[in-house]
Amino acid sequence: MPRGNTTRQPAKTGRHEGARKPPNGAVNKIAKNTKHSNVGAGVPARAQKKAAKKSSPKSKGYNPIAPDRVAEILKRLNELYPDVTCALTHRNAWELLVATILSAQSTDVNVNKVTPIIFKKYPTVQDFAALTPEELEPDIHSTGFYRNKAKSVVGAAKMIVQDFGGEVPTDINQLLTVPGVARKTANVVLGSWFKIAEGVVVDTHVTRISKRLELTVHEDPKKIEQDLMQIIPRDRWILFSHQIIWHGRTLCYARRPKCAECLLENICHAGDKTWSTVEMHKDAQLT
Ligand code: SF4
Repeated sequence: MPRGNTTRQPAKTGRHEGARKPPNGAVNKIAKNTKHSNVGAGVPARAQKKAAKKSSPKSKGYNPIAPDRVAEILKRLNELYPDVTCALTHRNAWELLVATILSAQSTDVNVNKVTPIIFKKYPTVQDFAALTPEELEPDIHSTGFYRNKAKSVVGAAKMIVQDFGGEVPTDINQLLTVPGVARKTANVVLGSWFKIAEGVVVDTHVTRISKRLELTVHEDPKKIEQDLMQIIPRDRWILFSHQIIWHGRTLCYARRPKCAECLLENICHAGDKTWSTVEMHKDAQLT
């Protein structure tokens, strides 16, 4: 549901929804980069209103996917997360493929506890191919949905050994024929290991934040990916996903995002922001 055209203000107490003291001088960085000097507690309401008016998207022709706006988002993501990579522990493409299959409905932290144990027990793809799913199930139980995941991992190993000579294929169409591999997993493996940009990884963080930043209006990951591929330069597809995933983990939480600490704040019109110096427009999305 759209929200009204009102600017969110900090409470008179100086406290506001979900805001905490920004770490490591983040406020200064935000102010410097966004020309906001009013982020933080104790700012006069008049100054807030002035900033909101200046940044209002109500001006004619506001287009959330305008190239300039998208470029600005990418620039700020670079400032926030310059060197981020995949958080799943792996040493080769096969290990990354397994880790990505196990990460569905689980956390990377959880998966990273399991994978070193299973890769020590079954060091090669051939070792996995020799298993039955039932034999693998106890080893991956803690990642959840372990029956389906065991079937996928063992099925993937068998196909990679039988059809691809024991090597994870680098062709996306071949990779998509491997059991347990859909576009997200294929993009993770191709992008993070082979550095091949065939698409944009769309996970739960990318879904939520792309909507908050109005880069898509869709819920379906395939449609979201298509939208992102249209507006983000191909040479940024891989890094963009990593950056957005880290942003979702560190600031732009599903519940109570830390907007007061976010470098994207004055160009973000998400309907569920916990702090805003910009006027909300009628199309602001709730995630
Ligand atoms: S301002 Fe808030 S909702 Fe928008 S990107 Fe930043 S943390 Fe997410």
